[in-house]
Parts: sequence; C-alpha cells; structure tokens
Amino acid sequence: MKVVVVGAGIVGLATAARLAARGDEVVVVEKEDDVARHQTGRNSGVIHSGLYYRPGSLKARLGRAGAESMSLFAREHGVAVETCGKLVVAVDEGERARLDVLAERAVANGVPARRVSTAEAREHEPEVSCVAALRVESTGIVDYRGVCGVLADQVRAAGGRLRTGTRVMGVTHDTTGLRVQVTGRDGDEMVRADAMVACAGLYADRLARTCGVRVDARIVPFRGEYFELTPDAAERVHGLIYPVPDPRFPFLGVHLTRMVHGGVHAGPNAVLALAREGYTWRDVSLRDLRDELSWPGLWRLGARNLVPGAREVARSASRRLFAASLARLVPGIGPEDLVPAPAGVRAQALARDGSLVDDFLIARGPRQVHVINAPSPAATASLEIARHLVDELDRGLVRGA
Ligand SMILES: Cc1cc2nc3c(=O)[nH]c(=O)nc-3n(C[C@H](O)[C@H](O)[C@H](O)COP(=O)(O)OP(=O)(O)OC[C@H]3O[C@@H](n4cnc5c(N)ncnc54)[C@H](O)[C@@H]3O)c2cc1C
Repeated sequence: MKVVVVGAGIVGLATAARLAARGDEVVVVEKEDDVARHQTGRNSGVIHSGLYYRPGSLKARLGRAGAESMSLFAREHGVAVETCGKLVVAVDEGERARLDVLAERAVANGVPARRVSTAEAREHEPEVSCVAALRVESTGIVDYRGVCGVLADQVRAAGGRLRTGTRVMGVTHDTTGLRVQVTGRDGDEMVRADAMVACAGLYADRLARTCGVRVDARIVPFRGEYFELTPDAAERVHGLIYPVPDPRFPFLGVHLTRMVHGGVHAGPNAVLALAREGYTWRDVSLRDLRDELSWPGLWRLGARNLVPGAREVARSASRRLFAASLARLVPGIGPEDLVPAPAGVRAQALARDGSLVDDFLIARGPRQVHVINAPSPAATASLEIARHLVDELDRGLVRGA
C-alpha cells in the first residue's frame, strides 16, 4: 500500500518508520527543509513518566508505554538519553494537598513515584526549596532531534522517501484511492496514494478541514518561552525540578530541566502566539489571528482565565518575574542568571466551549487519519502513537472508511 505521511515531526516520522518497516511504500511530505523544525525540535527534551494524565486516557496509556519504548529506542540507536529522574516539589503548605493528589494519580497510572521529605529531596537537589516532594525515578531526558534523525534514516533504508520543502494542500478521493495535492520547489503536483496519515502539528485542524474531515476543535498556538541558566547558575540544578501542576492549568508552571547535551533550560511559560509558528511577539499572521479570534472557544477560555493569562504575559515581558517564578523552586536564581533561549509553540486543540482538549485526539476521513491534538507528552509517546495510528488506518481501510 502507498501511504503519504504529512509532517516530519516526531509523530509523523515514527508513523512513517513503522509503515515502511512493514513494507508499505511511504512518502513523507514536510513543508520545511529539514525534519523536527517545529514542536519536536523546540521542546524540553523530557521523557515524561506518564504521571499526570487521566487514568485510562490515551495520554496515560501511550505516555507510560512510550516512556519505556522511547528510552529503549534511543539507547539501541545511540541517541543521547539519560534516565535522571525528577522532583515535583510543593513549595508551601497550600501545595501539599495537590502533591497528594498527584501521588494518587501516579499509583493509578502505575508510575513508580515516592513521597520524599525535604531532606531527601535535597539529597537529589541540594538547593531546592520545598515542604514535600515526589520523586519519580523513570523520568528521563533525550535528544528528540537525534531520535528524528534515526527515524528518517529508517524510513529511507526501508525504501521510503522524504520530500522536504513540500506542502500538502489538500486531498480528494475516489473508489481507487487518494489524490494528494502538494506544492513545492517544482511547483504543484498530484501524488496518488492508497491512504494518508496527517501529523501536521500546528496546522492539524486546518489541514483536516481542507481534506474534508470535520473537526469541532481549533488549534490555538501557545508559545512557551525559555531561558537557559548561565553556567554558574546551572551548577545549582542537578536534574529536573518541577512545580506541582495546578489541575486547572496543567501546562502552566515553569520548571528547571537539565538538557541531555548539557546546560539547564528554564521555562516554558505559556502565552497566546500571534501566529501558528509565532516564535516571538514580532511574528504575526493575520490569517492565523483571524482563525484564533473567530473561534468562540478562545473567548470563553480567555474570559475564564484572565488573571493567569495576564500573569503569563507579564512574565513574558519581564525577566525579573520569570526569575522570581524559578526562585520559588531554587531560591536565589535572579534575572542575571538567565540567558534567552529559543521558544517553542504548543499546538493545543481548544473545544468550542473553551475547554482545552486534554487527551490525544485523532480524526478519520476516507482513507485518512489525522492527528488533531498531540501536545506533551506526544514526543515521549510518539512510538506508541505511531502504533495506534497504523492500527487506526488499517481498521478504517477494512471498514472502507
Ligand atoms: C515548548 C514545548 C515543550 C514541550 N516539551 C515536551 C517534552 O519535554 N516532552 C514531550 O514528550 N513533549 C513535549 N512537548 C510536546 C511535543 O514536542 C509535541 O507533542 C510533539 O513534538 C508533537 O510532534 P508532531 O510531530 O505532532 O508535531 P511537530 O513536531 O510540530 O511536526 C509537525 C510537522 O508538520 C509539518 N506540516 C504542517 N503542515 C504541513 C503541510 N500542510 N504539509 C507538509 N508539512 C506540514 C510542520 O512543518 C512540522 O514539521 C513540548 C512542546 C512544546 C511546544
């Protein structure tokens, strides 16, 4: 079977590698000139343990299995990886209860996590500030770009093609298959295929709509801005230090992450980006803005979250406020310890009622599977998401969908 895979982020490449390995003819179509140019190449580099997610959800199941398969894959293929563990810290008495809830969730998700005292937390992180902490040994750090390089090689080695600098514009279908409209260096072209798997990240919903697949959610781009700690300040952090998440805003909360190639990343915050690939405040796309602002879900989300939203914008504008958030975790970190680092933009699906789509979300069309929502921990879970997508594709083809 000939399959077009849209997007050479980690989800697309993992899917393409899986299809190619079983003998399908695979063409990966990527609009950028190289792989992993967007979310995958700009993330925190963490292999999440599967701690936070609603038990039974795709995130919990695929995230937990993915943590194991990703570590194994990286080790087998010589990609930099380390299972360094992490500390989730309650910095005041008010956060203790939330830490208890997280500890229960760890049990429900089968993630080995241990409550530790302040003294034991300081054996791992001598400078951390906390009244209690959760130690998760299975969390790791990895080079996701390196993983993508290996996956791309696997696709090619199995006879697949990577067409970079080429954008999928839409698709039509008839009884014999799909006609995928692409445009690239050589102009417009029509590629015939038996099926398509779209892993288009920040453009997932838009591509699905142009392919005739109905999706009642809109991708809203949230930029995550990072700093790097100066080398002196970095010595104060040994591994990964996370705040207890607020269940109302699960992806808010800056953390400290030692990166697998050295250095410590601090962040990310979360501000609404003014373009889907808007990596700075200067990146503005009128089309993307119109898309965001015309979605009722965004206004509902905004109305419910004025205060935390304003706090994130203030932190974006002030290095002092950013440092103050970090100093809650490791006292003494100041603005002078921070060096700006490249930002990433999260593709977060937002429902019409203003709720963030929490789980991974997949939509189907005739001979097509579209990944609509694949936020964190989708990099961790990517090899398992790929397995799931291939199953979905096969089931759809059997049913004739
Ligand atoms: C700031 C940040 C921190 C994160 N930290 C972590 C972490 O530590 N651990 C973790 O597990 N996850 C993390 N994540 C989440 C993780 O990075 C993403 O879930 C994952 O990378 C999604 O991969 P993807 O392949 O779906 O998307 P992407 O990597 O965004 O790839 C999508 C690709 O599709 C291409 N594309 C789009 N439209 C078209 C088209 N029409 N034609 C051709 N190509 C197209 C794009 O150019 C892009 O290359 C983080 C994300 C962000 C933004």
